[in-house]
Amino acid sequence: MSGTVRLYVDHPLGQGQTIPLERPQAHYLFGVMRLEAGAELLLFNGRDGEWRCEVAQAGKRGGLLVCQEQSKPQAAPPDLWLVFAPVKKARTDFIVEKAVEMGVRRLVPVQSDFTNSERIRADKQRAHAIEAAEQCGATFVPEVAEIQKLSRLLDHWPAERHLLFCDEAQAGGSSALAGLLALQEAGRGPWAILIGPEGGFSEAERARLHGFDFTHPVALGPRILRAETAAVAALTLWQAVLGDWQ
Ligand code: SAM
Repeated sequence: MSGTVRLYVDHPLGQGQTIPLERPQAHYLFGVMRLEAGAELLLFNGRDGEWRCEVAQAGKRGGLLVCQEQSKPQAAPPDLWLVFAPVKKARTDFIVEKAVEMGVRRLVPVQSDFTNSERIRADKQRAHAIEAAEQCGATFVPEVAEIQKLSRLLDHWPAERHLLFCDEAQAGGSSALAGLLALQEAGRGPWAILIGPEGGFSEAERARLHGFDFTHPVALGPRILRAETAAVAALTLWQAVLGDWQ
């Protein structure tokens, strides 16, 4: 059903389930996408898989959809967090969008020593995450946590969760193959990827991070990447070795 409209709804989905539409959704489906009664579309809610639905009623201010059959089972991405320092807004939006497409379980914005005072609105980023999930066919929408201090996150770090520390100071210092092998050796399980801000990590942060036994430092090639490039590069590396791209 390529080209079929795919929409996230915050409503239970199941055999014969009816879904009343809010005005904005009705406007999008019937005003923008020009769907009419009898048309088919795909719905998902992040919990019940994806469902093929039919338009039962189409109106300017609302409408009604009915679930026909499940088209995709609920599938969660691997237990991978992307821990990242916000950068300029458009670039942060890009990080969130790519993380959903690449497959993460949770997005964890952090305030590190050199993070600019970039504000991040978790509700806006969640909307970006939903849009990305609608586009890429995901049935799961990662949580976007409220921003927190990196130091505090590390104070309470879950001991069983490995941390792939993308350390720009390692640039060119070790081969990507070494990074791959270290990932393979550490093996599957709960993981996180840490990407710093435009200003990189402070020496104090770097020393602390290298001191943890759950940390796996990695070089992402010999050049210094923008944070959003580094996020995609690290996610690619991790997904290819330990993730659901197998
Ligand atoms: N201001 C820093 C500098 O000049 O060294 C660059 C920071 S970079 C723009 C943002 C983040 O991307 C870094 O903190 C790191 O997490 C990641 N990164 C960029 N290039 C990398 C590389 N070659 N290896 C590992 N991580 C890298």
